[in-house]
Amino acid sequence: MIALKDPSLLRHQCYINGAWVDAPDGATLAVHNPANGAALGTVPYMGAADTAAAISAANAAWPAWRKKTAKERSALLRKWNDLMLENADDLALIMTVEQGKPLAEAKGEIGYAASFIEWFAEEGKRVAGETLQSPWPDRRLVVTKEPIGVCAAITPWNFPSAMITRKVGPALAAGCPIVVKPAELTPYSALALAVLAERAGIPAGVFNVITGDARAIGGEMTSNPVVRKLSFTGSTAVGRLLMQQCAPTIKKLSLELGGNAPFIVFDDADLDAAVEGAIASKYRNAGQTCVCANRLYVQDGVYEAFAAKLVAAVAKLKVGNGAEAGVTQGPLIEEKAVVKVEQHIADAVAKGGKVLTGGARHALGHGFFQPTIIADVNSDMLVATEETFGPLAPLFRFHKDEEVLAMANNTEFGLAAYFYSRDIGRIWRVAEGLESGMVGVNTGLISNEIAPFGGVKQSGLGREGSTYGMDDYLVIKYICMGGI
Ligand code: ADP
Repeated sequence: MIALKDPSLLRHQCYINGAWVDAPDGATLAVHNPANGAALGTVPYMGAADTAAAISAANAAWPAWRKKTAKERSALLRKWNDLMLENADDLALIMTVEQGKPLAEAKGEIGYAASFIEWFAEEGKRVAGETLQSPWPDRRLVVTKEPIGVCAAITPWNFPSAMITRKVGPALAAGCPIVVKPAELTPYSALALAVLAERAGIPAGVFNVITGDARAIGGEMTSNPVVRKLSFTGSTAVGRLLMQQCAPTIKKLSLELGGNAPFIVFDDADLDAAVEGAIASKYRNAGQTCVCANRLYVQDGVYEAFAAKLVAAVAKLKVGNGAEAGVTQGPLIEEKAVVKVEQHIADAVAKGGKVLTGGARHALGHGFFQPTIIADVNSDMLVATEETFGPLAPLFRFHKDEEVLAMANNTEFGLAAYFYSRDIGRIWRVAEGLESGMVGVNTGLISNEIAPFGGVKQSGLGREGSTYGMDDYLVIKYICMGGI
């Protein structure tokens, strides 16, 4: 059904303790193509007991994995990275059919996903401790870094591969085994990564993928005392719940949660560059990323000109099945997502917003939605406070720098923010004034494996990627050596 060069990459079983397994009772979960509703197959519907078994297997694999030298682990990770790149076409196709994003974007994600494995293969070799100045002549103070232990990860459907490797890369490089629960909607990308991890020679139990009942699996991952760390990417509501569930066993947590990114265009901006950035930031993955521009603030003097240029640029987007050539915007992931975009549009229009382009479901049906721009938007509308997670660009008008900073920061979220200006003083003031973990200045694309990804406020805890991304998988040990 899916024309893969290597059909063995498409697996319908979980990968636990180095074995491909079904749920003990044979229960399954169906997976569909969001572009046409076609059934792609099933994956096991596992629960708490299966999760506990996977955690035990990871724990059993831990001593041998942590005992390997960083260089030995690095070599295995490097092999895994190479296999991902060699199989990029197949991995991208699997992603497009289960997630919907255009094939070119899916292939881009595979490169991005592999880059975390490559990066942490390198970073793992550079984990270092230190010796401190001792306050005592007869004792020496040494700080070492150790793998934290068994890790668990829960990942979303919008980046089915990269959100896994961004967690698994540093975990494995640090010497930790990990159990991953991918999103129900996109399990095949995760299972394909497991096929390649097995081929790369990652030992049994070190990387496990379990699919099934999210609550039951999450419940076990958060309550099992063997799990020392949970890394979650997804909604703020679920992140909050998981944090609560982790409290009794005091787990270390990384949370990459929702965003509500402001995208600010000042009077002195290069408008063509701003439009290009807005298209990349807003409409990538059909607007379904947590760093997507959600609120576009445009200064009074360039408001009309920017709106006209954005409308012209949006007209060039091609909506369709992501597997077809030339398509730049695939379907939304599911009906619920389409309904949310419709609600945001209806709310904005009812309160005075003006649809400049789009505004409705696309004629292709299913999850397809017209790329939309709404002008005359204000802070009383849902688009001002909620993450739309769809191809809707609401244009707010502002006059002064302080005014737009206050509006941009008036949210519980603080993940990414973007702005366009050519005034160096303004650039520093605004970059420093924005309450967000990441700021794009004169660019709409900021993510890569080298830079720290993460938020402030209710957008999350911790940083992923970069040299800081190792920290969450390490614990510091202080050794005081006396008798010298
Ligand atoms: P989204 O809105 O992106 O679907 P979610 O936070 O609902 O965000 O989903 C992200 C991940 O969290 C998915 O893998 C999903 O299965 C998982 N998830 C959802 N609810 C729970 C829960 N109660 N416990 C554990 N995991 C959950």
